[in-house]
Amino acid sequence: QEVILKIENLKKYFPIKAGVIQRTIGYVKAVDDISLEVNKGETLGIVGESGCGKSTMGRTLIRLYEPTEGSIYFKGKDISTLPERELKRYFRRQIQMIFQDPYASLNPRRTIRKTLLDPLVTHKLYDKTEEYDQRIKELLEIVGLDASAINRYPHEFSGGQRQRIGIARAIALNPDVIIADEAVSALDVSIQAQIINLLKDLQNEFQLTYIFISHDLSVVRHISDRVAVMYLGKIMELAVRDDLFDDPLHPYSQALLSAVPEMEIEENGQKRERILLKGDLPSPSSPPSGCVFHTRCSAAMPHCMEVMPELKEVKKNHFVACHLFKGKNE
Ligand code: SF4
Ligand code: MG
Repeated sequence: QEVILKIENLKKYFPIKAGVIQRTIGYVKAVDDISLEVNKGETLGIVGESGCGKSTMGRTLIRLYEPTEGSIYFKGKDISTLPERELKRYFRRQIQMIFQDPYASLNPRRTIRKTLLDPLVTHKLYDKTEEYDQRIKELLEIVGLDASAINRYPHEFSGGQRQRIGIARAIALNPDVIIADEAVSALDVSIQAQIINLLKDLQNEFQLTYIFISHDLSVVRHISDRVAVMYLGKIMELAVRDDLFDDPLHPYSQALLSAVPEMEIEENGQKRERILLKGDLPSPSSPPSGCVFHTRCSAAMPHCMEVMPELKEVKKNHFVACHLFKGKNE
């Protein structure tokens, strides 16, 4: 298996400013010391409640945000400190994003031709206008739209069709990696399934690697090969999809899964008990000491308030950050 993207001890802290001189009085630790690898051709799902840092991680991973600390390797090359000029040359083209609301990212006054032309022209892919038009029509057909859509405007399309246009734009430059941030969250359930199937087809056809960020566990379960669960800027659990959904180990993952009606039934046919988390989500500007989940964990021990558990492999390819578990070789 080829690792296409690897992050080491990645941090993204946003300063909190106050007063007339805008002095920094603290930091929002949106991404706090995350390490993980993404394999070529896989879909890595990232789940967590809003505010857990999953979107920030997606954006930091591709240098839309500057990392505060840590390394990002793309195909073995550390891109975490590359200047923008070099990023453009080596990296920008190969990694693209799909957003929740394609409408917000499609200019209402520009035809679909103009929208899809931008990335192609920036990289001077062709010589003649007809060649550009040919490619744009091809892209529209690849994502399941009629080539005649080329002359229409965004408002003439439904939400699902607009997301298809967003996907066409994302694949226009033949990227290796696509980061989808809540890409189907705004769509009706039946349309969600269509878009997910389209993404899967494109993945097979073009050997794409996906990082699929969503708060929606059912959607993540549908599309992912592996899943990472985030809480307050950290990864709590990382496992192969079925291992995570059939046998969640971290107390937070267990609570998260127990709250989803479709996941009430366990493998053995028994009903999963709904686990109610106590207290509120702490602010990422003042995360709890030790295990960041300890204020809400019913299994918390005194030790948990002092020491943040490492994310360690407790079963084959199943990683958990919790003091209840020993590493598989310990
Ligand atoms: Fe709960 Fe302690 Fe495990 Fe954190 S380390 S999840 S507080 S048992
Ligand atoms: Mg988000």
